[in-house]
Amino acid sequence: MAPPLMGQMMNQPLLVSSIIEFAARHFGNSEIVSRRVEGDVHRYTYRACHQRAKRLANALQALGVGMGDRVATLAWNGYRHLEAYYAVSGSGAVLHTINPRLHPEQVAYITNHAEDQVLLFDLTFLPLVEAIAPHCKTIRTYVLMADRDRMPAGSKIPDLRCYEDLIDTHSDDYTWPQFDENAACTLCYTSGTTGNPKGALYSHRSTVLHAYASAMPSALNVSARDTVLPVVPMFHVNAWGLPYSVPLNGAKLVLPGAALDGKSLYDLFESEQVTFSAGVPTVWLGLINYAVQNGLKFSSFRRTVIGGSACPPAMMNTLLDAFNVEVIHAWGMTEMSPLGTTCTLQHKHLALPQEEQRRLLQKQGHAVYGVDMKIVDDDGKELPWDGKAYGHLLVKGPWIIRAYFKGEGGDPLQDGWFPTGDVATIDEDGYMQITDRSKDVIKSGGEWIGTIDLENIAVSHPAVMQAACIGVHHPKWDERPLLVVVPRPGMTVSREELLAFYEGKIAKWWLPDDVVFTDALPLGGTGKVQKNKLREQYKDHRLPTLSTQ
Ligand code: ADP
Repeated sequence: MAPPLMGQMMNQPLLVSSIIEFAARHFGNSEIVSRRVEGDVHRYTYRACHQRAKRLANALQALGVGMGDRVATLAWNGYRHLEAYYAVSGSGAVLHTINPRLHPEQVAYITNHAEDQVLLFDLTFLPLVEAIAPHCKTIRTYVLMADRDRMPAGSKIPDLRCYEDLIDTHSDDYTWPQFDENAACTLCYTSGTTGNPKGALYSHRSTVLHAYASAMPSALNVSARDTVLPVVPMFHVNAWGLPYSVPLNGAKLVLPGAALDGKSLYDLFESEQVTFSAGVPTVWLGLINYAVQNGLKFSSFRRTVIGGSACPPAMMNTLLDAFNVEVIHAWGMTEMSPLGTTCTLQHKHLALPQEEQRRLLQKQGHAVYGVDMKIVDDDGKELPWDGKAYGHLLVKGPWIIRAYFKGEGGDPLQDGWFPTGDVATIDEDGYMQITDRSKDVIKSGGEWIGTIDLENIAVSHPAVMQAACIGVHHPKWDERPLLVVVPRPGMTVSREELLAFYEGKIAKWWLPDDVVFTDALPLGGTGKVQKNKLREQYKDHRLPTLSTQ
C-alpha cells in the first residue's frame, strides 16, 4: 500500500496541562469550591488554581521530582488535590492516587510497587501515614496538605513538609513542558478483591480523550452552565475523569472533602446550587435518607451519574419521582479510565411510554465514542445483540489498558480485547446490560442466575434498604441463591414475605432458597458490597431447601 497523504494540521500533543491552562484562560473566573478537612469552605477560581498548580510544579522540581517519577496522594476531593492533579502530571511526573480505604498493608504495598518518591496527604490521613511510613521504602518526602498552623509537632514522619510552605516559597513562573502525549499521566490501582491490587497506568492522551468523550451530551453532558459536585472520590479512578472534564468545560466545581454524610452533602448541594453530581449507589442512600427524613427537596440538583455497581431501579425512581433528579446510569472500570457506557435515550425513544423509557434507562447503556464492546460465549464466539443472549463482555479503545503496570498478571488481552470480567447482554440498539460479575454469578444446575436482578427486586420492597445475593453450595444444584438483606431502620419484613414478593417477577428456579437479615453489608474501599466476604461469612449456611431437594 502506498503511504497515505499526510494532513497538514498542527501536531500538538494532548497533555493534561492544556486543560487547566485552557480553563484558566477561557473560564478564569469560574469557581472551585471546597469543603476543607479543616471544616471551613474554601473558594477560588480556575485562574488561581492554575497559578498554585504552577507553584507546586516548581516546588516538585526543587524536591527532585523528574519526568516519569511517581508522586502519590492520599487525599479527599479538595482544591489542593486538584492542584496536585495538574502540577504532578503537567510537569511530566506521574500522579498516583491511593485509596485510603484500603488496608494499611495494601497502601504500603502499593506505594512500594509504584516506587512513589513523594507522598502528598490530607490531615485526616496523618495517623495512617505515620503507621505506614516505616514500610514505604521509596518515599523520600512527605507533604502534609494543610495550613502551617496544622503541622504536627514532633512527628516521626521523615522529611515532613508543609504544602502551603512549598506553595509560598515557589513562584508561579512556570511553563508546562511539552512532551509525548503517550507519556504516563496517572496511576490507579484496582481494589484487588482477589490478590494484590494491579496498576492501571493512564497516558496524557488517554486522559484527555476520555475527558472530551465523557463530557459529550450523550454521555455525562457537562457544560459551563453546570455546577458539578463529584461525590466519587478523586482516589477512585480519578473521580471518573471529572477533575479533567469539568475544567475542560469551564463548569463550576464543588469538592466535598471528607464530609460525605447525608446532611453535609445536602447542605453543600444547596449552598452551592449544584446541578450535576456523580457517585456509587451506596452514597446516595445516605443523602436520600437524610432528605426524606427531613422532608427536604433539592432546589437546583437535576442530574446525577450513578455507576461503580448497578443502580437499583428503586433508587432511580425515588430520585426522579421524589426529587426530580434524573439518573444517568453508567458503567466502567479502573482499567477503562473508567467510562465505557452511559444510558441516555435516543430520539426514537422519546415517544415511548414512560414505563418503557425507564426500563431502558435501567440498563448500563450504549458505548461512549472511543469504546467498542462485544459479548462472547465461553469459547470466545461472538454472541448476537438481541438483548437476550448473555456472555462475557469484552472492550477495546484508546483509554482502555493494554497491560497492567510492570506487566503484573501477564498479558490481560484476548485478541486485542480487554475482558472486563462482567457478564452482559447487548440489545439491537447497542444498549448493554450487566447481569453480573462473572465471579458473582450463581451457577445452579449448569445455568447462570444473575444476582443484580434478584437484588434490584429485593430493594424495591419498601422495607428493604440494601440487599446482596450470593451463591451458597448445594449438593444437587452446585449453588443456590441466598439473599442477605439490610432492612430499613424501624421496619421489619419476614423471609416469607420477601420470597412471596418475587412471585411473577422472575423464573421460579431463580427464587432465592433463603433470606438472612443483617445490620450492614461489608463494603469495600470504593463503596461496593464485598461479595467475597459475604460468601466467606455464609459458606456454612444451611439452606432450608436442602431437605426437600
Ligand atoms: P474494582 O474492579 O477495583 O472493584 P472498579 O471501579 O474498576 O473497581 O469496578 C469495575 C466493576 O464494577 C465493573 O467491572 C463492574 O463489575 C462493576 N460496575 C461498574 N459500574 C457498574 C454498573 N453501572 N452496573 C453494574 N456493575 C457495575
